[in-house]
Amino acid sequence: MKAVCWFGKGDVRVENVPEPKIINPHDAIIKVSLTAICGSDLHLYDGYMPTMEKGDILGHEFMGEIVEVGREVRNLKKGDRVVVPFPISCGRCYFCQKDMWSLCDNTNPNAWMAEGMYGFAGAAIFGYSHLLGGYAGGQAEYVRVPFADVGHVKIPADLPDEKVLFLSDILPTGYQAAEYCGIQPGDIVAVWGCGPVGQFAIKSAYLLGAEHVIAIDRIPERLRLAETFGGAETLNYEENEDVVEELKQRTGGRGPDACIDAVGLEAHGTGLGIMYDKVKQTLRLETDRPYALRQAIQACCKGGTVSIPGVYAQFVDKFPIGSAFAKGLTFKMGQTHVHKYMRPLLERIQKGEIDPSAIISHRIRLDDAPIAYRKFREKEDCHIKIVLKP
Ligand code: NAD
Ligand code: ZN
Repeated sequence: MKAVCWFGKGDVRVENVPEPKIINPHDAIIKVSLTAICGSDLHLYDGYMPTMEKGDILGHEFMGEIVEVGREVRNLKKGDRVVVPFPISCGRCYFCQKDMWSLCDNTNPNAWMAEGMYGFAGAAIFGYSHLLGGYAGGQAEYVRVPFADVGHVKIPADLPDEKVLFLSDILPTGYQAAEYCGIQPGDIVAVWGCGPVGQFAIKSAYLLGAEHVIAIDRIPERLRLAETFGGAETLNYEENEDVVEELKQRTGGRGPDACIDAVGLEAHGTGLGIMYDKVKQTLRLETDRPYALRQAIQACCKGGTVSIPGVYAQFVDKFPIGSAFAKGLTFKMGQTHVHKYMRPLLERIQKGEIDPSAIISHRIRLDDAPIAYRKFREKEDCHIKIVLKP
């Protein structure tokens, strides 16, 4: 079968690889009907994850039809259509039972390594390095889904793939980020990053009752989408030198009640700001250019919340803890507990409250993945969200 494989920094290829097989009674094999490239895949593409191996299959946002199930899978059968959540969760451990699915204790055999190197050990993730379990990803014709009997939602036939695919990751991620803000009536929310996660964070902030959302980025088509899809007011950080001051001005001097960092490691649109030091196994901030998380902390209203869906790892310096302390800020962050949100968000899609397909900018064949990765990385030709059809 064909699959999108990682071969090194900036080197992604479509290869012929063996088809996956059931190896555990709780597995299912899925024939992928639609998959997507995520901003998180760019961290792999940029070489930030040291535990990728040549030939690893990428992809953690995918859906499709079940073609085979292990003997213990009782709630799904051949022919069912499912969206697969990106964290692999056992559903039985202390954390899964508390609805903290992305912190599952049982699915990442390399958790010890993650704990040592990154200071965390959560659930395994499809196609996301050996540090996070080493499971093959879904940018492929077929994929093995472990714990297939946990948390997958069957998709009604009348909903097209494009409307539901993003339940696998970025829709719940934007939603959780907004939910973490504890939005009260009248609140103003600022969102750094108008990538797919930022777009859904903006939309979700309104769904959860925000009065007003201000979206920050530098890429015109993404800012435009934040206005048309999200209904946000926008701020181009290349046109406004002092984002923090500008936000204060636009919020009566107080600052936004909640700030969402939907940027993460990429930090300023170039990806050059954070370097991985292989010898020390640390991340270093290479520049003092605009830095989303720092701005979010500095702009946030006293007593407000900073919510961080953007991915960070290791040590990132120059964190203004003094400002956070003095203002009594609340921080919420982490990988998304996707399983928790899939069903309620599917209902919102069915009711027409949100149409996630509106953010898709490119529809391509699996064969064209290498060029799509490059363009998405460089934010060229209006690449906002790319879906691939195997
Ligand atoms: P993306 O790369 O498409 O979007 C990032 C956006 O941030 C870009 O539009 C970029 O121009 C903008 N940006 C860069 N620097 C900025 C700055 N200083 N101020 C404002 N905007 C800036 O990525 P995405 O798919 O939207 O994902 C965003 C982040 O969310 C990534 O770090 C990704 O890894 C993370 N993510 C986390 C989870 C989770 O479970 N927490 C899930 C999915 C994605
Ligand atoms: Zn993702």
